Amino acid sequence: MSTVHWSPAEIEAAVDAYSAVFERRNRGEVVPLRPVFEALASQYGRSTSAYQYRFRNISHVLAVMGLAWLPGQPPAEHVGPTAEATIRQVIEAKNYFGEELVEPTADPAQLERRTRALLLRGVPSAPLGRKEPQRVTTSVERFVRDPAVKAAVLEAAVGNCENCGQPAPFVQEDGTPFLEVHHVKWLAQGGSDTVTNAVAICPNCHRQFHYGIDKEHLATSLIGRIARLVSES
Ligand SMILES: [Zn+2]
Ligand SMILES: [Zn+2]
Repeated sequence: MSTVHWSPAEIEAAVDAYSAVFERRNRGEVVPLRPVFEALASQYGRSTSAYQYRFRNISHVLAVMGLAWLPGQPPAEHVGPTAEATIRQVIEAKNYFGEELVEPTADPAQLERRTRALLLRGVPSAPLGRKEPQRVTTSVERFVRDPAVKAAVLEAAVGNCENCGQPAPFVQEDGTPFLEVHHVKWLAQGGSDTVTNAVAICPNCHRQFHYGIDKEHLATSLIGRIARLVSES
């Protein structure tokens, strides 16, 4: 290892680079580390192997903080007390690696993002939770929708999911089969509220159309299979 002192700026740059790799890998990207080390090395005039070891030091600090670290960069504890404190400060100051992720939120999208991030980075062993969750009033923008469109689409499905073909998973209290109406081009993306853009599907398929890895393909294939539908993309 180099004996040249690591300035706080250099440590910060290393943590930034580490965090960026972590985020990109979590999104499924293949991120080779060599160019990352080379970029740092050319900026600060140190060997690439020094950064390689620094990454493992960062893993060590994350492990000590109870946070997830970058796979392939096993914690190396010989970091030195000053550098360790600086690495920790940078991680805490920038909210990298999950510090604010455990904050309760009333925003469903934010709740989902934080949940995903915790699953990737490490779930706290004893979540605090709330005995009496706070209530807040929020204002939500909603689409004004046509009940006749919804009814016509449900009727056309005759109790079977228009995607997988399976019968509705259960019968509701009023005796009708439970299916959900989904807009093939989402209303939020400018899709129309019409029978040529709506389908009646089971809850599993519905979730897949919103969150599935292959949701684009699913939508295209559905348009190809149901004559009523007109592509709006
Ligand atoms: Zn289905
Ligand atoms: Zn939907």
